[in-house]
Amino acid sequence: MSGAQGTAKWRALDSAHFLHPFTNHKDLHEKGARIIERAEGVYLWDSDGNKILDAMAGLWCVNVGYGREELAEAAYRQIQKLPYYNTFFQSAHPPVVELSTLLAQVTPTGLNHVFLTNSGSEANDTVVRMARYYWACLGQPDKQTIISRHNAYHGSTVAAASLGGMPAMHVQGGLPIPGIVHINQPYWYREGGDTAPEEFGKQVAQELEQKIAELGEHNVAAFIAEPIQGAGGVIVPPDSYWPEICAICRRHQILLVADEVICGFGRTGKWFGSDYYGIQPDLMPIAKGLSSGYLPIGGVMVADHVARVIIEEGGEFAHGMTYSGHPVACAVAVANIRILRDEGIIDNVRDNTGPYLQKSWRELAVHPLVGEARAVGFLGALDLVADKATRKQFDPAGQTGILCRDISIRLGLIMRAVGDTMIISPPLVMSREEIDELIMLATSALDETLAAVQGKNDSRGAVS
Ligand SMILES: *Cc1c(COP(=O)(O)O)cnc(C)c1O
Repeated sequence: MSGAQGTAKWRALDSAHFLHPFTNHKDLHEKGARIIERAEGVYLWDSDGNKILDAMAGLWCVNVGYGREELAEAAYRQIQKLPYYNTFFQSAHPPVVELSTLLAQVTPTGLNHVFLTNSGSEANDTVVRMARYYWACLGQPDKQTIISRHNAYHGSTVAAASLGGMPAMHVQGGLPIPGIVHINQPYWYREGGDTAPEEFGKQVAQELEQKIAELGEHNVAAFIAEPIQGAGGVIVPPDSYWPEICAICRRHQILLVADEVICGFGRTGKWFGSDYYGIQPDLMPIAKGLSSGYLPIGGVMVADHVARVIIEEGGEFAHGMTYSGHPVACAVAVANIRILRDEGIIDNVRDNTGPYLQKSWRELAVHPLVGEARAVGFLGALDLVADKATRKQFDPAGQTGILCRDISIRLGLIMRAVGDTMIISPPLVMSREEIDELIMLATSALDETLAAVQGKNDSRGAVS
């Protein structure tokens, strides 16, 4: 069954049985889900046959694009040979060893060990347990507290959502759990006011040192942050931010955790966000682009000095998942990393398509709705504002973003809205021609959104 009939059937069954993540179900049931049936390259096709340019790479993950036969073959071959075996009880298998070795090669210097999980959330749960375990092994069991940031996103399990700084997640279920605290984010455009960006970046970084002093260094295990916040709204910190954070972590005995779930595997035009900013993390959660989303897999890269303590000083680290190092997911991740490496995809983003996308994207700043347009690598954001001169935000917040997103999808472009910020994170294989199409569609979406917003204001004016 295809076309309208097929769509109606899928929507009805979807509403009847499937509980979607991060979804207002009442709202969804009124509209019906968008049913995506297939994909190729940077395009999706829905069940009505509409072709849609996917400027979000699925959910920040399909870095090599859709339809790569090598990844399908890697999975098929591995399922035939060894579909599953555990990595508990002193066993391993070739794909998990191969992946671990390859990860040591492509990640920043000094990160030569990996603990594997099935998602980014589990990777961050692992961070919480491993950071605390590390300090306990060193005879400092009080070093437990982890410092994170407001509006951070680190996943949706209980610990990962606690690490995150999303109020809407914290109010559901009494989060954060004890031992996790938050400082401000380096979001200059919305929160920097009259302070110059570099000064603001330094100030919010120094909050880390204040928080360490307040808690007592002997109680703090780690600081965690995304090199560039993704789900928070593609928030690019001022250049002063990361050097200051790194210096503070070095001055004090706390682990630095760079959550690379989005920034990793080429997103910034370097292999990792840590390479982009010159960060030397002690722990580095990864997922998403690790397999380009073809199969679920995540992990935590562990610095040599941390691994040494866990290997030599600890007994058994009582943590792991049935599918830690799943052979099929590992085989696909290996094939994916080889594609990224051997086809020069990341260098192309750094030298060619990245700068091209960034330039076109930043030019959208001239649009009357756009307060700030920012881009790094293949990440971009547009902060929509009611008044460009004063950076005045829309009231109520969030509706303009959703309006723009819905218009954009209707025009054939997947952009995502975070409040009133439009964000993109396209597959890294997007060509210049496809980037032109993206910019054209985004411009149309902004124009239509502006017309709708103005129409609403006019009619409101007429009534009052
Ligand atoms: C998506 C994301 C996570 C969570 O990963 P899941 O695979 O969805 O559990 C963690 N950290 C960051 C930075 C993310 O963007």
